[in-house]
Amino acid sequence: MIETISKNVFLSISKSKMLNQAARKWGLRFGASHVVAGETIESAMAKVKELNEKGLVCTLDHLGEFVSSREEALEATQYNIRTLEAIHKAGVKSNLSVKLTQLGLDIDFDFCLDNMRQIVGTAKQYNNFVRIDMEDSARCQATLDLLRELRKTYDNVGTVIQAYLYRAEQDVKDLKGVSLRLVKGAYKEPPEVAYQEKAQIDENYMTIIQTHLLSGSYTAIATHDHHIIEKVKQFTKEHGIPKEQFEFQMLYGFRTDMQLQLAKEGYTMRIYVPFGNDWFGYFMRRLAERPQNVAFALKGFFGK
Ligand code: FAD
Repeated sequence: MIETISKNVFLSISKSKMLNQAARKWGLRFGASHVVAGETIESAMAKVKELNEKGLVCTLDHLGEFVSSREEALEATQYNIRTLEAIHKAGVKSNLSVKLTQLGLDIDFDFCLDNMRQIVGTAKQYNNFVRIDMEDSARCQATLDLLRELRKTYDNVGTVIQAYLYRAEQDVKDLKGVSLRLVKGAYKEPPEVAYQEKAQIDENYMTIIQTHLLSGSYTAIATHDHHIIEKVKQFTKEHGIPKEQFEFQMLYGFRTDMQLQLAKEGYTMRIYVPFGNDWFGYFMRRLAERPQNVAFALKGFFGK
């Protein structure tokens, strides 16, 4: 009960325009630096190097979402291109994750598609890969439509499917052959479109993981849930699915011991490394997922 209330409170706060704008000026606060790798490309690059040295690969995410002006979306496009250039120049092991609402999806589909063509085209030039994060269900179809357009030209782009959505299994079948990150889902979605019970979400999560793996497609299993990870290890062993066909992903700052352990066992372990001054919404969603995280938020708050 208390958990549901705190989840809803943090999810609502995460969307507050006023707080998101204010937080850009505050700098990283409330313990956010535990889960956000600094505010600049340079600080993010230093973290990626550190993680690479420990045997972990990365995906960098320049924080920001729901932009409403073309100017902001163009600026974000250039920032993502500069991030790809920095990855190439530093020779670090990292690809890029992007959110379409940062690149103009809510303004105009074709404008966003043009921006994405520039980003994915740059990544292609550097032999790199771009993952389109999945946002709330209202944007799901547009995201998949945009991906389909991009894949007419580029093979170095994939997206994310969320197990809480009823449509997830069909989407995974339709995206056979495309590199997918599979997650449980982070947004608050109504019962009309999404499972509400953890048990049902977990069950559907395993279903879509197995479907994508068995179709021979590259699968990124992004979870901190050790039960799911153990099931995936067992399933891939039983079905002779090679370690090159899948990877585990976790967020920067979460379950670091387990990240290192999986890498030691020979699995590809990719860390999602968010950075930038637009950290507030991301940080609030992480608090919503796991109320225990509030402990370090409070520590950060009182420690300032
Ligand atoms: P949960 O269901 O939150 O936890 C299951 C169990 O795992 C817990 O009960 C606990 O026993 C254990 N556990 C979990 N976390 C911890 C911890 N920190 N320490 C100790 N034990 C723990 N969502 C989207 O909607 N779109 C995206 O594009 C997207 N991208 C993502 C990328 C990555 C790399 C990751 C890791 C997640 C992403 N998510 C995304 C978020 C995802 O949808 C989930 O909301 C989030 O991962 C929480 O679910 P979970 O699978 O980690 O496990």
